Amino acid sequence: NGLQAPTAGTVDALSSHFPLCMQNMHRTLRQDAKLKHQGRLEYTLFLKGIGLDLSNAVEFWRRSFRTITDEKFTKEYLYNVKHAYGEVGGDANRRGRGYTPFSCQKLLTEPLPGPGQTHGCPYRTHTDVENLVALLGATGMRDPETIKSVREDVGKQRYHIACNRVFEFAHKSELERVKRKGGWGPAELDTILHPNSYFKRSFLLKH
Ligand code: SF4
Repeated sequence: NGLQAPTAGTVDALSSHFPLCMQNMHRTLRQDAKLKHQGRLEYTLFLKGIGLDLSNAVEFWRRSFRTITDEKFTKEYLYNVKHAYGEVGGDANRRGRGYTPFSCQKLLTEPLPGPGQTHGCPYRTHTDVENLVALLGATGMRDPETIKSVREDVGKQRYHIACNRVFEFAHKSELERVKRKGGWGPAELDTILHPNSYFKRSFLLKH
């Protein structure tokens, strides 16, 4: 269905299919040429989940940290990328496999980001809904009805419902098409509970 393994060079183009959590980390990385530890871990595992292999992951992160030297990259960051893929460290069980990408549930229960940090689920914003609305606006989501519903969902702490609502609006015509054609069953149209499912579903609907 056109879902080919991504490379270090195709992540930017693919990021339009990422859920807000991952788009947010991607944007931070591109703007600041850095991402703090927790965000790096979450984003590394998400990219692994979309099929980025280890050598492309290393290339992606090396290029993304464009302001540091090779030496600093090797010393401070390379190990963690390899570790996520099970290439180094960890117990024998994880050797060669590494770690599993985080689900929404996991991302929603991680400690909230502190100053200068970007990670976790951005819908889980107890204090700054305006910031969430701005983040959505930056991805092109400005539909007043959807934004209104998102505000209500977030107020009721129904974070993943808000995320699914945004997905549905962003893929409205494609979803109508597959429903009409009967091409997708209930499993494909279930509530999204994992960032990697969000990506896969978005990509398949648009291709
Ligand atoms: Fe990401 Fe899940 Fe939050 Fe959506 S609900 S932004 S996929 S963590």
